[in-house]
Amino acid sequence: MHLYIHIPFCIKKCLYCDFLSVSYDKEKVSLYVKSLLNDIRLSAKSLQNDNGSKITINTIYIGGGTPGTLTPDEITAVMNCIYDYFTVSENAEITVEVNPCTVTKEKLAAYKNASINRISMGVQSFNDKTLKTLGRVHDALTAVKAYKMIRNAGFENVNLDLISCVPGDGGFENNMTANDPAISEIENYGNADPAKKFAIAERLVSEGRINSFYDSLNLMAFLAPEHISVYQLIIEEGTPFYTLYGNGSDLLPDEDGQADIYMKTSDFLKKRGYDHYEISNFSKPGYASRHNTAYWLQHDYIGCGLGASGTVYIKDENDHLCAANRYRKISEIPEYINILSGAELPETEQKTLEISENLTKSDLISEHIMLAMRMRPGFSPEKFEKLYGDDDDSVRQKLRENIRILEKYMPEFINFDGDYYSFTEKGFLVSNTILSELI
Ligand code: SF4
Repeated sequence: MHLYIHIPFCIKKCLYCDFLSVSYDKEKVSLYVKSLLNDIRLSAKSLQNDNGSKITINTIYIGGGTPGTLTPDEITAVMNCIYDYFTVSENAEITVEVNPCTVTKEKLAAYKNASINRISMGVQSFNDKTLKTLGRVHDALTAVKAYKMIRNAGFENVNLDLISCVPGDGGFENNMTANDPAISEIENYGNADPAKKFAIAERLVSEGRINSFYDSLNLMAFLAPEHISVYQLIIEEGTPFYTLYGNGSDLLPDEDGQADIYMKTSDFLKKRGYDHYEISNFSKPGYASRHNTAYWLQHDYIGCGLGASGTVYIKDENDHLCAANRYRKISEIPEYINILSGAELPETEQKTLEISENLTKSDLISEHIMLAMRMRPGFSPEKFEKLYGDDDDSVRQKLRENIRILEKYMPEFINFDGDYYSFTEKGFLVSNTILSELI
């Protein structure tokens, strides 16, 4: 079982953001944490094993919003509550998302004390102009310093996020040309000790030498986090960006331009030892996000916090997946706080749910193929049969039809190695279109 905890508070709304986030307010946060603790308790109670023993959790992801806005005491209270009501496995991956400007030594010490062992930080760019375009609250130097603090605090599993295709970010223009001493510093000191690397990174950023997306990517790889997520900017309706730029068709690179940046990013990171294991995710060997992989592999997960989702899968007598229940917690903060911290607390989790739907086997099969195709190694018909069985005509037919759709795109966009269907690098680019055809 896996656990997601949502902390919706942010210091300032980024211009492109369409996540469930609200502005930081100290008093509201403390009421929210009180509610969240009750949410965790009720969720644990609703799932406990038949003999009343606690459920075992293998990964915990505290996401947002900006969980880094919680004080050391607040994050400790959340983690203690999890330890009280669940059994957390000894080698659990426990991640907290931070914004560079929320990182302090005290908070990092609290994360360590609570056994949090993975930090995910939204850097997005090492160029101040691009950060301003995105409406980020931090600057590039703060991000480098925060990363240094995280490493110095002893965290050995760190993800950094980066955004590509931001208007005016220079794409793959190599601003750090071969004649620029900055590039030789990065290349010469690729294996330097961390202190030297931090000093170089701080100087390059302070001197304004990181000018393009390529420069940011280069500096990020130089800093060598275990995991890098690269998201392409999408202008979603309802965001301040959409009000400013509409759908951005005049500002964003066209399809070919986006494809070019995507392929070059993938090539660049692969050459530096990162495995491109999911559409937007790269990791050093052994450091793929275990929590996200659990979603993609259709493992059970619990969601606690404002608007958090969870899915519990149901198996038939042959141990094959046959249905699931998916829910979403209340997504309006006054209502969430009212229900979970008022005088009369609910007896069961039911009252905290905004949506609760039952998924059929057919729904799950489509989802399985789509999720598996997002990842490396891809979709395996053999693994599919182990999970869903092969004794049901409708399952076999659905599998055949979906394979027919995938094979239509071979070999340019889809590869089959005898075991797995997977997107080629070029295929990843058009994956949404291909996956939307699956039934
Ligand atoms: S920090 Fe993340 S969640 Fe908060 S406003 Fe920015 S993009 Fe949205």
